[in-house]
Amino acid sequence: MIEIINEKRIIEILSKSRDPTNSFINAVLEKGLQKKGLTLDEVAILVNTVEEEQIEKIFKTAAKIKYEIYGERLVLFAPLYISDYCVNDCKYCNFHVSNKGLLRKKLSMDDIANETKCLIDMGHKRVLVEFGEDPYNIPIDYVCDAIKTIYSVKSKNGNIRRINVNIAATTTENYRRLKRLGIGTYQLFQETYHRATYEGLHGGPKADYERQITAHVRAFEGGIDDLGIGVLFGLYDWRFEVMALIAHAQWMDKNLGVGPHTISVPRFCSAPSVEFKPEFVVSDKDFLKLIAILRIAVPYTGMILSTRERPDLRTKAFKLGISQASAASITAPGGYSSHHLGVPSDGSQFEIHDNRPLNEVVEALIAEGLVPSFCTACYRKGRTGEAFMELAKEGDIHKFCKPNALMTFAEYLEDYADSELKKKGYEMINHCVEQICCEAIKEETKKRLIEICRGKRDLYF
Ligand code: SAM
Ligand code: SF4
Repeated sequence: MIEIINEKRIIEILSKSRDPTNSFINAVLEKGLQKKGLTLDEVAILVNTVEEEQIEKIFKTAAKIKYEIYGERLVLFAPLYISDYCVNDCKYCNFHVSNKGLLRKKLSMDDIANETKCLIDMGHKRVLVEFGEDPYNIPIDYVCDAIKTIYSVKSKNGNIRRINVNIAATTTENYRRLKRLGIGTYQLFQETYHRATYEGLHGGPKADYERQITAHVRAFEGGIDDLGIGVLFGLYDWRFEVMALIAHAQWMDKNLGVGPHTISVPRFCSAPSVEFKPEFVVSDKDFLKLIAILRIAVPYTGMILSTRERPDLRTKAFKLGISQASAASITAPGGYSSHHLGVPSDGSQFEIHDNRPLNEVVEALIAEGLVPSFCTACYRKGRTGEAFMELAKEGDIHKFCKPNALMTFAEYLEDYADSELKKKGYEMINHCVEQICCEAIKEETKKRLIEICRGKRDLYF
């Protein structure tokens, strides 16, 4: 059995670093600014920081790192729920098997094509596909067919260029099949790293803690080197979970040669049939603090925030460390098509707290000085796994990301924005393009932006 998380050690480190002195906290933040990451002992010091003034320093440090590495970019995507059939009994999820009142759905390939068209027509270029776990109703062949269908859909303004996948833990062979289809990141959340809590909250095959925590290793063996991890905050003490996330990331780095590509930070939301009441509710303040700590601890790991959070909180989180966010999401299979027809979709997985359409999210980002990006260049250029990390750690990824963000944003403005939004968007693009350091890339970006205005699409470095 491989040991990825040593609970006892995490608890010991957390308790020995209680009440950290200001000079310890300052030293950790100084080290954080070097953008080389933190050890678990250092993370524990920040986790145990409670004084307002010191927490403000954590926020400032995280915001600085976020800006230096990711600039003003924020990558946007949408989840695409394909089926809510599930044999598991996760106490927090509306799709749990004991919810007998839910009329289960499994989208046909035509339904999937329609959902994909809706997302393309909104302006999305990346999706995260979501499935329950049910080997009988949702075999891997169906998952693969769904992915092929999404990639095959061409609409008036293009197609989905990157599909990230969130399916239950599976076999190396199944991961290999996903890899062959050209998926981007494989995401799987541990939900909680605290074994006893994990076992108490789950039923069915997912209740196997070992199967869940080793899934990324099998995915890696199957050839997937862009891997996403995460915790469902609210299930257990966030302090422990943050330490465990970092321990998991460090374990992957050491043993697979590549750390996680992304860390997701979903927070529990109420859901229709769910009676579970979180004992470890994470306040907004603590939630922002943990995002900031993660940003400082693993500066080059992307961080994902969903529409589980309110718009005002999302804006703060974007500045503190989030690099990717979902927008205009619906968490029920078939939800985009029914929304398009004006029919409310029932059977959502959980309640969301940011219901804005994509154009409103884009407008709000511009107002905050953030550049909406629909970029999918890295994995299409083979910049994944170790290759990506090397570029990122050298700071070279910056060279590509900024122009790619601007070009995909220009595409969005051309194809989806009204004149007012287009005006604001291009003001931002014109300002940002001038800040590209490398003259050759700056000139080439300007040239390509003109080509995009003239109708050319899908240009990237
Ligand atoms: N069924 C797969 C799984 O569980 O890994 C696929 C993903 S499931 C559709 C996506 C994620 O939603 C879960 O990993 C869980 O963290 C999250 N989730 C479930 N119920 C939730 C709730 N009530 N509030 C917030 N997030 C929830
Ligand atoms: Fe099924 Fe995933 Fe929901 Fe658990 S979280 S009940 S595995 S869909």
